[in-house]
Amino acid sequence: MSTAGRRPVIAGNWKMHLTVAESVALAAEILNRCSRLRDVALVVAPTALAVHAVAKRLADSAIGVAAQNCHPANNGAFTGELSPPLLAGAGARYCIVGHSERRQLFGETDGGVGAKVRALLDHGLTPIACVGETLAEREAGHMLAVVERQVKAALEPVRAHEVPALILAYEPVWAIGTGRTATPAQAQEVHGAIRALVARLAGPEAAAGVRIQYGGSVKPDNIRELMEQPDIDGALVGGASLTAESFARIAARGEET
Ligand code: PEP
Repeated sequence: MSTAGRRPVIAGNWKMHLTVAESVALAAEILNRCSRLRDVALVVAPTALAVHAVAKRLADSAIGVAAQNCHPANNGAFTGELSPPLLAGAGARYCIVGHSERRQLFGETDGGVGAKVRALLDHGLTPIACVGETLAEREAGHMLAVVERQVKAALEPVRAHEVPALILAYEPVWAIGTGRTATPAQAQEVHGAIRALVARLAGPEAAAGVRIQYGGSVKPDNIRELMEQPDIDGALVGGASLTAESFARIAARGEET
C-alpha cells in the first residue's frame, strides 16, 4: 500500500502476442512466481482470443484479467467488436481503453474513450484509461494541455464517486516500446498534474482515490524509482510483461515501494 493508501496496480499488456496456449502458460508461470504478493494488484491483458482461457487459469487467484479494447455498446451489428458484457462474461475484470496504439493506428478518439469508460463501469469492469503526449506535442510545450484534454474526456461521463473505481495510465507515447523511459521527475510532473485536475473535476476524495499508473519502457531496474514518486501508483507494462521472470520482478518491486 502506498503512503497515500492507494493499492498499487501492475498490469501487463501482452498486445498482439502469444497464442492462447502460450498465454495460458505465461499466466500460470506468473501466478506461480507472484502468488505470495499481497500489497500489489496484478493484471494481465492477453489478446481478446485468450481472455477466457487465461481467466479460467487464473480463477480463484488474485490476478485479474484485462481486455485490450472494447466497444461501448452492449451488443449489435458491430462486426469484429467486443462489448463490456461479452468481455465480463468471458472473465475479464479490467479493460484498457485509449491506448496510444489504438489512438494512433485505429482512430480512437477522446470522446470514444469516454464512452468506453462509461460502458465498462456500467458493467462492473475497471477501465484502465490511457493518456499521453507524443514527442512533438511535448517539444511544442503542449504536454499538459494534451494530457488534460484526454483525462477530461475520459472522466466526462463519470460521476465523482465512481472515479476511484477507475485507473488512469499516463503513457508518454515517445516512451512506449522505445526503451526510453520518462525520468521519475518527468513522470511525477504529469502524474501530479493529472491528480490536481481530477481534484478540480471531481473533488479531493476522487483525486485521492484514483490510481494513476505510469507506462513506457518500464523494466525491473527502473520500476522502483518510478514507484517512489508520490503520484505514481503502479505501471502498465508492455514488452517486459512478456516473460514471467521480468513481470514478476516488476511486480515484486512494485509491492516493496
Ligand atoms: C504499453 O504498450 O502500454 C507499454 C508501456 O509498452 P512498453 O512497456 O513496451 O513500452
